[in-house]
Amino acid sequence: MSAMLLNKEKWPEFIGKLAGKNLWAPQAEGDAMHFAQVKEGETPGLDFGNTRVPPKKFIFPQTETMYRFQLGGTNIEEPVIDDEVVVLGIRPCDARANKIIEKLFKWDVDDPYFLARQEKVTLIGLTCTEPGLNCFCPSVGGGPASTDGLDILITDLGENYYLEALTNKGEKLLGEAGDLMVEDKGDGAKAKEKLVAAAEKKINRTVDTKGIPEGLPGLWEDPLWKRVSASCLGCGTCTYLCPTCHCFDIQDEIEGFDARRCRMWDSCMFEEYTLHTSGHNPRPTRRERTRNRINHKYNYYVDKFDVIACVGCGRCINLCPVNIDIVEILRQVKEAL
Ligand code: SF4
Ligand code: SF4
Repeated sequence: MSAMLLNKEKWPEFIGKLAGKNLWAPQAEGDAMHFAQVKEGETPGLDFGNTRVPPKKFIFPQTETMYRFQLGGTNIEEPVIDDEVVVLGIRPCDARANKIIEKLFKWDVDDPYFLARQEKVTLIGLTCTEPGLNCFCPSVGGGPASTDGLDILITDLGENYYLEALTNKGEKLLGEAGDLMVEDKGDGAKAKEKLVAAAEKKINRTVDTKGIPEGLPGLWEDPLWKRVSASCLGCGTCTYLCPTCHCFDIQDEIEGFDARRCRMWDSCMFEEYTLHTSGHNPRPTRRERTRNRINHKYNYYVDKFDVIACVGCGRCINLCPVNIDIVEILRQVKEAL
């Protein structure tokens, strides 16, 4: 399908076509944007900054039932994951993050929960024409109009939206609203190109990642780790709000004889994360935990999957309560190489 133009006057009708499809979109909650289900009659807009929490919950929920069982019984009841979901307004960095963590969830064994959810979700992305203060996606292989992981990309051209179907799922969905749109004859593509070039220029923060993955092992005992972790509170915000963080814990919840085994997001910035039953902790202080966080994203993941596990969304910088800044840490890493 060629790229299409949708006049903004037709936006409510376009949303109406999606409304019966378990549609989720960013909506304001207090001073932040969060993904929420779109109720009948609501018309979400696309004029917002990125959401505080990344939308990874659609494929990797914060808490997920793996199976239910009865104490003393032998049967297990597995969850049925068959809800179709359409997510509108996901940013290119967050969609790209899903593809990056997919590598882990498809690595030694296929993770049935992650892959079933991924199959059921359609992602409609929004080109970032006004990148955030701490965005640095181009430094780590992305960009304000990156299409990796998306089914459709929407670009706001002012009077019109410019819509590109990127997968069969995306094409099918756009086809259902075909009567509302007109085919772009080339002007839309040119306007998008200009907007994206302007957006790239607005991104002020950069990291030169050359040499970092190979150089990090040599900095294992470098004093920089103590320096950059000195003010860390170990709150885990940087990992819980990171679209590429994917660590989880598994626990059993029991009520009477009914039980469920579930997994939930965990954070390597917590002291208990690596605490052994013996009392030994291989990452006993914030120095080791911060060193691990950076090494995991910029060294181990590159080594194993050939991609940096950071998409430059800037959330960990924006929301760290003590202003620890990953771009600054990486600058110090470069300096120490
Ligand atoms: S958000 Fe900041 S203070 Fe909290 S764990 Fe991360 S680096 Fe430490
Ligand atoms: S490490 Fe920080 S900048 Fe990189 S993807 Fe995670 S939250 Fe975004």
